Amino acid sequence: MSSATNNAAQNSANQTNQEAKQTGAENTGETWTAPESAFADMLRESSKTIKEVVDADQDSVCNVCRSDEADEGNPFVFCDRCGICVHRECYGTPLTVKIPEDEWLCDRCEQNAQDEMCALCPVRYGAMKRTTDWRWCHLSCAMWIPEVFFRGADGREPIDLSQIPGHRWENDCCHCGSNYGAKMICGHKDCGRTFHITCGLLNNIFLEYKVVRNAADVIVALCFEHAKKWQSKKKGR
Ligand SMILES: [Zn+2]
Ligand SMILES: [Zn+2]
Ligand SMILES: [Zn+2]
Ligand SMILES: [Zn+2]
Ligand SMILES: [Zn+2]
Repeated sequence: MSSATNNAAQNSANQTNQEAKQTGAENTGETWTAPESAFADMLRESSKTIKEVVDADQDSVCNVCRSDEADEGNPFVFCDRCGICVHRECYGTPLTVKIPEDEWLCDRCEQNAQDEMCALCPVRYGAMKRTTDWRWCHLSCAMWIPEVFFRGADGREPIDLSQIPGHRWENDCCHCGSNYGAKMICGHKDCGRTFHITCGLLNNIFLEYKVVRNAADVIVALCFEHAKKWQSKKKGR
């Protein structure tokens, strides 16, 4: 294992340890105002014309894990209203129990909640589920933010946001500029960039689960710049 991974893993491990005792989300509930950037335009677009975004996304990619590979045991399923594409396993209940033969609506569409936002990021499009405090949250945000849990691991619902430490709500996202929601911190020791999971995934960040012996798994996150450096170093070997 290279030292870059070690550092990243240790940094996140330290943070996780420090954060473990802080509880209580300091979400002020402020209304998010879109920043002036090209990405903000895209966000505004996507909140209005979801259909266009779906049509532009010709190749199927799971909205939760971002993989474009599927097979018979874990097929892609599409929401018949908003068009999101998810793996059966990535979405959890009810798809893990049974994939409907005719129409399938994701939870947010089924509950007519397409205008509801993710509690953790400003991206309006995507696969979301209910939280324990009756808000909504992207499955991708829930998967990668270390202190967020699925109460039912198999069904992947509801999503528990109660353990997110205060500092995740503080800094601005380096992509959309918004302070809204919970942000990840780049694991590179000299970086300190913070970003939403969803914004980061649209900008090629690096995310990985690291299994640590005798301890909880650690999530390594690298910002777009350090992800690029890390990938090119890996290729150069
Ligand atoms: Zn998936
Ligand atoms: Zn839907
Ligand atoms: Zn989100
Ligand atoms: Zn963002
Ligand atoms: Zn970085």
